[in-house]
Amino acid sequence: MDRIHILSETVASQIAAGEVVNRPASVVKELVENSIDAGATRIQTVITDAGRTLIQVTDNGHGMSQADAKLAFQRHATSKIHGTDDLYSLTTFGFRGEALPSIAAVSELSLTTRQADAETGVQISMSGGQDMQVEPCVCDAGTTFRIRNLFFNVPARRKFLKGNQTEFGHIMTEVERVSLAHPEIAFELLHQGQQVLSLPVQPLRGRLVSLFGKKLSQSLLPVEIETSLVRISGFVSNLESARQRGSQQFFFVNGRYMRHPYFHKAVLQAYEGLIHEGDQPSYFLFLDIAPDQIDVNVHPTKTEVKFQDEPVIWKILMAAVRETLGKFEEMTTIDFNVADMPDIPAFGTGHQTGNMPKVEYNPDFNPFKPQGSGGA
Ligand code: ADP
Ligand code: MG
Repeated sequence: MDRIHILSETVASQIAAGEVVNRPASVVKELVENSIDAGATRIQTVITDAGRTLIQVTDNGHGMSQADAKLAFQRHATSKIHGTDDLYSLTTFGFRGEALPSIAAVSELSLTTRQADAETGVQISMSGGQDMQVEPCVCDAGTTFRIRNLFFNVPARRKFLKGNQTEFGHIMTEVERVSLAHPEIAFELLHQGQQVLSLPVQPLRGRLVSLFGKKLSQSLLPVEIETSLVRISGFVSNLESARQRGSQQFFFVNGRYMRHPYFHKAVLQAYEGLIHEGDQPSYFLFLDIAPDQIDVNVHPTKTEVKFQDEPVIWKILMAAVRETLGKFEEMTTIDFNVADMPDIPAFGTGHQTGNMPKVEYNPDFNPFKPQGSGGA
């Protein structure tokens, strides 16, 4: 008896879609990342019923030609890489060419897009990835995706969605992450017709104020270190504002949010002995590194990123945060018994006992440079 058969195109594409599209927030993430890749400086996301009914993302990016807009829905259709070599010099979010066919397979999708120099744009619509309709349209330069009735044809998945509050919370998380990584882009988020976020183009500190309020942002100390391997910049919270809960902790690498439990430990290590055990600092740390030093070829929905040389980056990160704390905080208790830290004269001449010792630092300190040599 033969048992094997080939799955229908529809079933196969719904299964493949499950890999990329778990919930409304994953659609938002993919569409917003595409907008960023398209060079947008303004991205608006409109949500109805936490994304069950409508997810609409509008950007002012470079748009698509009619031929590209049609091709974009085929699996492995991408404008972002050509060969595997390109995987080691990636500067875009996308490269798999999987998101659009996956989203299309499990929703009623429509798209309008126009390139700035084209007179008319194109509108494409389809249902469950089938029956593509293509018409010319009069529309703004840039691209709008409308995703209606997500999972309408996969009831099992629709049933697994959580309540609106939870699902919208996931959407907020995605928009928050991507907007932190890109303060040079204006973001707007609406839910049920109400404006939830409106972020103008602003410097990072301004974006932090907009997202998390003045109080948090006033507690932040700048971090800035540049070595030949990696540049680390951003902010960490001062000692006073470390707390048991509610701390905001974000790592970004090359403009992309990442989770990195190992690097998280480097930050905590920098605070060790300076804050109460169990308290957590907030941090917003941006790593810039040559694309060939990281492996982003992990699962599309995963936020972990692998680095070539994690222990070295760990030390640079730890030293950078320590240096910031040493520079901006007057600490009597600071424990500098750390192998890679610079020598710090405890008391300069003229200090009287009873004065608070000031921590000194060397702004050119690089733990991986023999002391006294030049160049990073
Ligand atoms: P990937 O992002 O991995 O290339 P996607 O399926 O997300 O794959 O998108 C396929 C292609 O469609 C992209 O490579 C890009 O050329 C085009 N595209 C998608 N979204 C947009 C957009 N908002 N503006 C312009 N082009 C887009
Ligand atoms: Mg993409």
